Amino acid sequence: MDVVSDARLWFISKIMSINTVNKPKLLTILLRGVCKSCPQCGKGRTLHSYLKVRPECTECGESLGHIRADDFPPYLTMVIVGHIIVPLLLLSERHYAPPTWFQMTVWPIAALALMGVMLPISKGFCVNLIWHLGITGEER
Ligand SMILES: [Zn+2]
Repeated sequence: MDVVSDARLWFISKIMSINTVNKPKLLTILLRGVCKSCPQCGKGRTLHSYLKVRPECTECGESLGHIRADDFPPYLTMVIVGHIIVPLLLLSERHYAPPTWFQMTVWPIAALALMGVMLPISKGFCVNLIWHLGITGEER
Protein backbone atom coordinates (compact mmCIF):
# COMPACT_ATOMS: atom_id res chain seq x y z
CA MET A 1 0.00 0.00 0.00
CA ASP A 2 1.41 3.38 -0.92
CA VAL A 3 1.84 6.41 1.32
CA VAL A 4 -1.21 8.24 -0.06
CA SER A 5 -3.49 5.28 0.65
CA ASP A 6 -2.06 4.99 4.16
CA ALA A 7 -2.75 8.66 4.76
CA ARG A 8 -6.29 8.32 3.41
CA LEU A 9 -6.97 5.30 5.58
CA TRP A 10 -5.59 7.08 8.63
CA PHE A 11 -7.71 10.20 7.90
CA ILE A 12 -10.89 8.18 7.30
CA SER A 13 -10.34 6.15 10.46
CA LYS A 14 -9.76 9.38 12.37
CA ILE A 15 -12.95 10.94 11.00
CA MET A 16 -14.94 7.79 11.75
CA SER A 17 -13.60 7.56 15.29
CA ILE A 18 -14.32 11.16 16.28
CA ASN A 19 -16.20 11.11 19.53
CA THR A 20 -19.22 13.32 18.95
CA VAL A 21 -20.83 12.59 22.30
CA ASN A 22 -20.79 15.69 24.51
CA LYS A 23 -19.05 17.66 21.76
CA PRO A 24 -20.47 20.83 20.26
CA LYS A 25 -21.12 20.98 16.51
CA LEU A 26 -18.15 21.61 14.21
CA LEU A 27 -19.35 25.09 13.19
CA THR A 28 -19.70 26.08 16.85
CA ILE A 29 -16.21 24.76 17.59
CA LEU A 30 -14.72 26.68 14.65
CA LEU A 31 -16.50 29.92 15.58
CA ARG A 32 -15.21 29.52 19.13
CA GLY A 33 -11.76 29.09 17.61
CA VAL A 34 -12.09 32.38 15.72
CA CYS A 35 -12.98 33.99 19.06
CA LYS A 36 -9.99 32.16 20.65
CA SER A 37 -12.34 30.42 23.07
CA CYS A 38 -12.27 26.88 24.44
CA PRO A 39 -13.70 24.36 21.93
CA GLN A 40 -15.55 22.44 24.65
CA CYS A 41 -17.19 25.14 26.80
CA GLY A 42 -16.67 28.36 24.80
CA LYS A 43 -16.03 30.32 28.03
CA GLY A 44 -12.34 29.78 28.73
CA ARG A 45 -9.57 31.15 26.54
CA THR A 46 -7.55 28.90 24.22
CA LEU A 47 -4.49 31.14 24.00
CA HIS A 48 -2.48 33.10 26.52
CA SER A 49 0.08 35.82 25.78
CA TYR A 50 0.03 36.14 21.98
CA LEU A 51 0.10 32.65 20.47
CA LYS A 52 0.75 30.16 23.28
CA VAL A 53 -1.86 27.45 23.76
CA ARG A 54 -3.04 27.09 27.35
CA PRO A 55 -2.29 23.68 28.91
CA GLU A 56 -5.96 23.40 29.85
CA CYS A 57 -9.12 25.46 29.80
CA THR A 58 -9.45 27.71 32.83
CA GLU A 59 -13.23 27.19 32.93
CA CYS A 60 -13.88 23.51 32.16
CA GLY A 61 -10.40 21.98 32.49
CA GLU A 62 -10.36 20.56 28.94
CA SER A 63 -6.81 19.54 28.03
CA LEU A 64 -5.45 21.74 25.22
CA GLY A 65 -1.70 21.72 25.81
CA HIS A 66 -1.07 18.65 23.64
CA ILE A 67 -2.44 20.37 20.50
CA ARG A 68 0.27 21.46 18.08
CA ALA A 69 -0.88 23.56 15.15
CA ASP A 70 2.69 23.87 13.78
CA ASP A 71 2.83 25.98 10.59
CA PHE A 72 -0.82 25.85 9.60
CA PRO A 73 -1.90 29.14 11.29
CA PRO A 74 0.82 31.22 9.53
CA TYR A 75 -0.04 29.62 6.15
CA LEU A 76 -3.73 30.28 6.70
CA THR A 77 -2.97 33.86 7.75
CA MET A 78 -0.85 34.50 4.64
CA VAL A 79 -3.58 33.14 2.36
CA ILE A 80 -6.29 35.28 3.98
CA VAL A 81 -4.20 38.46 4.15
CA GLY A 82 -2.99 37.98 0.58
CA HIS A 83 -6.57 37.65 -0.64
CA ILE A 84 -7.46 40.92 1.10
CA ILE A 85 -4.39 43.06 0.38
CA VAL A 86 -3.69 42.14 -3.26
CA PRO A 87 -7.18 43.00 -4.58
CA LEU A 88 -7.15 46.28 -2.62
CA LEU A 89 -3.73 47.10 -4.06
CA LEU A 90 -4.86 46.33 -7.61
CA LEU A 91 -8.10 48.31 -7.21
CA SER A 92 -6.28 51.33 -5.84
CA GLU A 93 -3.77 51.15 -8.69
CA ARG A 94 -6.50 50.92 -11.28
CA HIS A 95 -8.75 53.68 -9.95
CA TYR A 96 -6.41 56.14 -8.25
CA ALA A 97 -2.91 55.32 -9.55
CA PRO A 98 -1.20 56.51 -6.36
CA PRO A 99 2.53 57.31 -6.45
CA THR A 100 5.00 54.46 -6.05
CA TRP A 101 6.28 55.67 -2.67
CA PHE A 102 2.70 55.42 -1.38
CA GLN A 103 2.27 51.87 -2.71
CA MET A 104 5.65 50.82 -1.30
CA THR A 105 4.80 52.23 2.14
CA VAL A 106 1.12 51.66 2.81
CA TRP A 107 0.56 48.12 1.53
CA PRO A 108 3.43 46.41 3.40
CA ILE A 109 2.42 48.17 6.62
CA ALA A 110 -1.23 47.23 6.06
CA ALA A 111 -0.26 43.61 5.33
CA LEU A 112 1.91 43.36 8.46
CA ALA A 113 -0.78 44.92 10.65
CA LEU A 114 -3.44 42.61 9.25
CA MET A 115 -1.18 39.59 9.75
CA GLY A 116 -0.60 40.63 13.36
CA VAL A 117 -4.33 40.71 13.93
CA MET A 118 -5.14 37.55 11.95
CA LEU A 119 -2.43 35.22 13.31
CA PRO A 120 -3.97 34.62 16.78
CA ILE A 121 -7.40 34.22 15.17
CA SER A 122 -5.98 31.62 12.76
CA LYS A 123 -4.22 29.88 15.63
CA GLY A 124 -7.44 29.66 17.65
CA PHE A 125 -9.26 28.33 14.59
CA CYS A 126 -6.60 25.68 13.93
CA VAL A 127 -6.34 24.61 17.57
CA ASN A 128 -10.09 24.10 17.77
CA LEU A 129 -10.15 22.22 14.44
CA ILE A 130 -7.34 19.93 15.64
CA TRP A 131 -9.17 19.42 18.94
CA HIS A 132 -12.29 18.41 17.02
CA LEU A 133 -10.36 15.96 14.83
CA GLY A 134 -8.72 14.46 17.91
CA ILE A 135 -5.21 14.74 16.50
CA THR A 136 -2.79 14.43 19.39
CA GLY A 137 0.58 14.71 17.68
CA GLU A 138 1.32 10.99 18.10
CA GLU A 139 0.61 10.26 14.41
CA ARG A 140 4.26 10.51 13.38
ZN1 LIG B 1 -13.41 25.10 28.41
